[in-house]
Amino acid sequence: MEPALRPSVAAGLYCTDDHQVDPRLVMAALRAAYVAAAAFCSSIAPSRAWTLKAAGCRIGHGEGSCRAPTVVLTAGAWTGDLLPPNLTVPVRPLKGQALAVRTTPDTGTLAHIVWTEQIHMAPRSDGRLIVGATVEERGFDDAITAGGLFALLEGAHRAFPAIEEMAIEACGPASGQAPSTTRRSSGRRRSPAWRSPPAIIAMAICWRPQRRLPWRR
Ligand SMILES: Cc1cc2nc3c(=O)[nH]c(=O)nc-3n(C[C@H](O)[C@H](O)[C@H](O)COP(=O)(O)OP(=O)(O)OC[C@H]3O[C@@H](n4cnc5c(N)ncnc54)[C@H](O)[C@@H]3O)c2cc1C
Repeated sequence: MEPALRPSVAAGLYCTDDHQVDPRLVMAALRAAYVAAAAFCSSIAPSRAWTLKAAGCRIGHGEGSCRAPTVVLTAGAWTGDLLPPNLTVPVRPLKGQALAVRTTPDTGTLAHIVWTEQIHMAPRSDGRLIVGATVEERGFDDAITAGGLFALLEGAHRAFPAIEEMAIEACGPASGQAPSTTRRSSGRRRSPAWRSPPAIIAMAICWRPQRRLPWRR
């Protein structure tokens, strides 16, 4: 099924429900669909520009302000910075580093997403192989570190030795901050206002209670 995996990989679990999307393509398609639907895209101004009333919201954005009966806020780890003072949400950034390598007919590739204890490798249809991701409690620090890349490459090489022949294509753009929450950080008192419209907060939470770096198991 995956002949390029190291022979010492003794067993695996085949998960037919594991799928992937290329987030860059999804974002481009989403933005195009959004603009085509006569909406507009803009940066949200700082939280002071928000007002929230029973009748709806007023939001300051790059070109001024607008009103809406309901607002869906999808700012991920940055959500806390954009909320008005009377709203809180227990979210913090979780730094992740990832990298992309270029596969060729000579290097071979993987047919499936492969998860190991340390990393995962996702083969893309354009020939890239994404290796991700570290999980680091570093706030909004976006530095690509030697330790992070070492952990990814070392973890990948343990299972898939052919990676040593692959050219590194990118490590910056694939990295970023995932929104995360813990029971500990949810200790702040919640405002009842954000539980119901007019404000809806949507984020894909990466739940990680531990504080260890992934290469320090
Ligand atoms: C390196 C890495 C690898 C990952 N790998 C996986 C994986 O393999 N599988 C998986 O399921 N999850 C993975 N995750 C987690 C996943 O990416 C996140 O959980 C998910 O992207 C969070 O989605 P979101 O929409 O809540 O926030 P985000 O995807 O972070 O989106 C928030 C958006 O809001 C924008 N924004 C912020 N402030 C403003 C503003 N003022 N105005 C306008 N826009 C603003 C940001 O630029 C950002 O584009 C990974 C995360 C990282 C960091």
